[in-house]
Formats: sequence, structure tokens, C-alpha cells
Amino acid sequence: MLSNKINFFCPNCSSDKYIGKTTIGKNYKDEPYKNVTSEIQCAKCFMDIPSIISENISPDKQNEMSKLWNEIYNHHIKKMLHNVKMF
Ligand SMILES: [Zn+2]
Repeated sequence: MLSNKINFFCPNCSSDKYIGKTTIGKNYKDEPYKNVTSEIQCAKCFMDIPSIISENISPDKQNEMSKLWNEIYNHHIKKMLHNVKMF
């Protein structure tokens, strides 16, 4: 079991359990994720969440981060579908 080194909040499923933090391999080209350098993987939904919207989020910011995550996530899904069509 990991210790609580990171104050984690999953904007996807609201879990506070995480698997680990990784330096990002992908390259986000869109704001507000241009400067994201690490992601934290949720232990419940297994999503990789950019650390800026999942680390040290104060309770009053959690709704905001969830909203932000949904926007970004949906955006990425659309992009992926778009890329599939391109093939
Ligand atoms: Zn989660």
C-alpha cells in the first residue's frame, strides 16, 4: 500500500487512492495542459490524471477540477475518434 505522499483527488471518480505518479510521456498540445509534466494514475478507475488537476486539490476546488477533467477528457476522446477516421 502506498503511503499518502500525494494528496490525491481523482476528478474522474472522486477517489483519493492512486497507484503512482509518472512523468508524462505524451505531449499535450492544448491549454490548459501545455505545461503538464506528470500524471497520477487513479487506483479505482485507472485513468491517468494530469497532476495539476489531481494533486493537492482543496475540497472547494474539486468540482471545478472534475468539470475541467470532463471537458479535457471528452476533447481527447473526440480527437481519438477523429484520428481513427483519418486512418
Ligand atoms: Zn479515478
